[in-house]
Amino acid sequence: MIVVKVGGAEGINYEAVAKDAATLWNEGQRLILVHGGSSETNRIAEALGHPPQFLTHPGGLTSRLTDRKTLEIFEMVYCGLVNKRIVELLQREGVNAVGLSGLDGRIFEGRRKDAVKYIENGKIKIHRGDYTGTVERVNTALLGLLLDAGYLPVLTPPAISYQGEAINTDGDTAAAMLARALGAEALLLLSNVPGLLANFPDESSLIREIPAERAGDPQYLAVAQGRMKKKVLGAVEAVRGGVGRVVFGDARIERPIRAALEGQGTVVR
Ligand code: ADP
Repeated sequence: MIVVKVGGAEGINYEAVAKDAATLWNEGQRLILVHGGSSETNRIAEALGHPPQFLTHPGGLTSRLTDRKTLEIFEMVYCGLVNKRIVELLQREGVNAVGLSGLDGRIFEGRRKDAVKYIENGKIKIHRGDYTGTVERVNTALLGLLLDAGYLPVLTPPAISYQGEAINTDGDTAAAMLARALGAEALLLLSNVPGLLANFPDESSLIREIPAERAGDPQYLAVAQGRMKKKVLGAVEAVRGGVGRVVFGDARIERPIRAALEGQGTVVR
């Protein structure tokens, strides 16, 4: 089993991802796709007059402020536009893909964090009423039914809270929880960069391998900025949780899944 997460940043080659997934699928490879949609969400939120806002948490990580309206825009883009684009591309390749969000069948379940700490002008503040949370449980039984019946699941945030509310959740973490729950041999995090770059954005400075037990070393974590830091931390946790390996690969190239499986990118093991 492999889990492939396709990012939502600018430049992703969805056609190539779908083609590659279809070839592997037809060769008998069990796989699940998870996707993002952040840049498209930002664009549409702007167009709808509800521009994105991000909170910086103590510790430096950032996240999208998700009020009810943001959540609705998020659902439009992730569950609608991006999910159906990928499902259509797979269907064109002859793969019977089924697009589902974490809400459907409680595929991604977690705790809602409605009070979020953030930093403003050097002070710690609390934002309440947020619809965010982290995936803690995965409905692998439902996914097993689909896979056994020959359907390729294409999954997307939001997740569902234990109280049944939709919550915005980080796609990389959701994919990592999924890979752990399934004991996947590989988790591929495909994005618009060749992998973790020692000297971002210099693409020739690709770090080829991160030994999970040394991920905290300055040459790895310190070079990862913003969302990349979360990705590296998540990858390490996935490997510790039993996932065979995590690869940060390039989703702009032809055959992006196969390339990552062959070790092109940054491999965490
Ligand atoms: P996605 O939505 O595709 O998952 P993210 O925006 O979450 O993508 O993360 C990928 C981004 O991380 C890259 O586009 C890049 O701008 C940024 N980044 C920050 N530091 C690094 C680094 N050291 N190496 C590679 N990318 C980095």
